[in-house]
Amino acid sequence: MFYSYRNSVVFNPILTIYLFSFFLIFNVDNFYSQEKFKIVIDAGHGGKDPGKPTEFGFTEKEIVLKIALNLGGLLEKDDSNEVIYTRKNDVFLKLRERAAIANNADADLFISIHCNSFHDTKVNGSETFVLGMHANERNFNIAKQENEVIFLEEDFEIEYDNFNPNSPENLIGLTLMQEDYLDQSILLANSIQNNFKNNLNLKNRGVKQSGFWVLHNTYMPSVLIEAGFISNPKEGAYLNTNKAQKDIAKNIYDAIVEYKEAYISDNIISNLEYANSNITYKVQIAASKRKIELKSYNFKGLRDISRLKSGRLYKYYYSTSSSMDFINNKLKLAKSKGFKNAFIVGFENGIQISLD
Ligand SMILES: [Zn+2]
Repeated sequence: MFYSYRNSVVFNPILTIYLFSFFLIFNVDNFYSQEKFKIVIDAGHGGKDPGKPTEFGFTEKEIVLKIALNLGGLLEKDDSNEVIYTRKNDVFLKLRERAAIANNADADLFISIHCNSFHDTKVNGSETFVLGMHANERNFNIAKQENEVIFLEEDFEIEYDNFNPNSPENLIGLTLMQEDYLDQSILLANSIQNNFKNNLNLKNRGVKQSGFWVLHNTYMPSVLIEAGFISNPKEGAYLNTNKAQKDIAKNIYDAIVEYKEAYISDNIISNLEYANSNITYKVQIAASKRKIELKSYNFKGLRDISRLKSGRLYKYYYSTSSSMDFINNKLKLAKSKGFKNAFIVGFENGIQISLD
């Protein structure tokens, strides 16, 4: 008997049922599955860039690499984590390469580790930075020092669009690409500083904002830790010990675990929200790889925004109702606000259903 290609594939009832159930299983699986939690660990400096001045013989690039490797070792013990290092040995990396590693991995977190220095050798303590305007000149100077590595890179004028790390205008003029992630970054930074304060002999200098190039160019929650001052002979000697490098890593690790629990429960809540109703309708307004805070200013003023993680994408919805008429009006409103491609989606018991 002759079967055309079309007949044999599309109208084979067993195959159709098989494909249909595969489709359902695939969707259900995607709906609730949790991808690995990707953490990029960035040991500052390396290779021809030793980091901060080392008049007491402590080398920033070596200390931060050991902290980074200890931290990665702890995180790798949990199978649900994926650790990506910007460097695992003494090599030079451009700032742009560090940000690119994190962005290409589509990481969930970016942790940059550094040590501080200051001309006054009595100054000590740890501080954790998130991206922002430098509130004062000292914060500007720290960002400037960490950004200055750009001068060691060839063709920096071309690669960084004439970004001059010595110009306050350049840094203050930064638009906050990281704005969406600022709340999450601050949450993690606070937790790191609290752990340092409570468990280590490090003075807590607090969570601060400044214009670090690497933080500005990563598309995920990102923090930069200045673990302590190698310009202070006592603190430098402490930071240079295996014990300090292990303890600091452990306290960063604990903060990441706490952050991750909050992050994952947030996703589960947003997924399960749909499971309690029978059929509901929403207006899908956007889909993105980025996890965007559900604030109305991120959605052209629309309120009642919900988010669903589906595979590698976050889908963003406006409004929820079991009434199609109600949701049709919301669709018109979303389009009038500029979401021209918005459309209505239906959910049955938490699973997106076809409305055709
Ligand atoms: Zn540094």
